[in-house]
Amino acid sequence: MSENYLKKYPNAEGYFGAYGGAFLPPHLEKEMKRITDAYYAISKSHQFISELRSIRKHYQGRPTPVYFCNRLSEKYGGRIYLKREDLNHSGAHKLNHCMGEALLAKYMGKKKLIAETGAGQHGVALATAAAYFGMECEIHMGEVDMAKEHPNVVRMEILGAKVIPVTDGLKTLKEAVDSAFNAYAVDSENSLYCIGSVVGPHPFPMMVRDFQHVVGVEAREQFYDMTGELPDNVVACVGGGSNAMGLFSGFIEDDECTLYGVEPAGRSFKTGDHAATMTYGKPGMIHGFKCYVLQDEEGNPAPVYSVASGLDYPGVGPEHSMLKDLERVNYVSINDQEAIDSFYELSRLEGIIPALESAHAVAYAVKLAQQNKRESILVNLSGRGDKDIDFVVDTYGLPKEGK
Ligand SMILES: *Cc1c(COP(=O)(O)O)cnc(C)c1O
Repeated sequence: MSENYLKKYPNAEGYFGAYGGAFLPPHLEKEMKRITDAYYAISKSHQFISELRSIRKHYQGRPTPVYFCNRLSEKYGGRIYLKREDLNHSGAHKLNHCMGEALLAKYMGKKKLIAETGAGQHGVALATAAAYFGMECEIHMGEVDMAKEHPNVVRMEILGAKVIPVTDGLKTLKEAVDSAFNAYAVDSENSLYCIGSVVGPHPFPMMVRDFQHVVGVEAREQFYDMTGELPDNVVACVGGGSNAMGLFSGFIEDDECTLYGVEPAGRSFKTGDHAATMTYGKPGMIHGFKCYVLQDEEGNPAPVYSVASGLDYPGVGPEHSMLKDLERVNYVSINDQEAIDSFYELSRLEGIIPALESAHAVAYAVKLAQQNKRESILVNLSGRGDKDIDFVVDTYGLPKEGK
């Protein structure tokens, strides 16, 4: 299926075409090589594969279902299906790569997991994995995100993780990444840095993609079993790009499937009001790797914003950057209001409250359905919206009657 593609990218130096690589101080560069070697040696072993398979089935509750949206499809035309990653244990796709990364840490003899988090979903997923394996866990989080996503802070603490508030710059995801990396540089002997998406230096974009690949493999088989064909369109939101890469990697060699990555257009197209990296960014460097980057006039990473704090990152995975240039994936955007409308619509038509991140993908699927009423659309419902309910209702109110 996609195995040729997965073997071809990245190359041995961690490049997806012109993007990726590892640009780090020498000490960390050596550490990345050690992780890469360990990943190749350990993750292909029979023991690792069967342990991960068992965890997915008995602990995470995989495979997650593919669900046909009856009422949403009836309203807009098209046939809209959801891959239900919101039903993955801990409520989002992120546990897929966290369990993989933590299992790798265990095989490498590490005692501690270090990471950053944006919306708090990665932190919760990693704290969950750390509890499962009995490891220490240290999560760096911007103060702005800590206030907005308070329930996730409490969840991490209940799970036994230490949450470190980050007070630099805009106090969101980008600063949290810097802070986590600095902490890891100090203690790389005993700990493993576990990145939250298909970003960062090699080998992380490859590792996280490989651990998320299960989503695409399951979805392809499930969709085919349900319908006897492959989906015409495959849609996922893109922050760093891990849920999208997981789903897309199952369909990447199926030329008849059109792939859409949905970025946050935020509240306007002005710098600082969105995080649509593919639409407004250009090739550059961030956090030790090459990719499309939203940049200010001096070429530094620009401030970003989205109503969905899991999507507000000024870079994007190197693999997505390549797939844009290859024109294999179409990158499009959805603004805050459209995402909010879809948040309520999916809740009221299907009884599924989506994460605000996932609501971006649903909103684009609805647009596609209206344009192509005969086509099928498979959407990655990357997470559930419980974490967002207070924020949405306090900020936007409930929808008016009849909407
Ligand atoms: C973190 C998150 C995202 C964005 O991350 P990607 O790496 O782009 O997938 C999307 N949806 C949910 C529910 C998330 O928690």
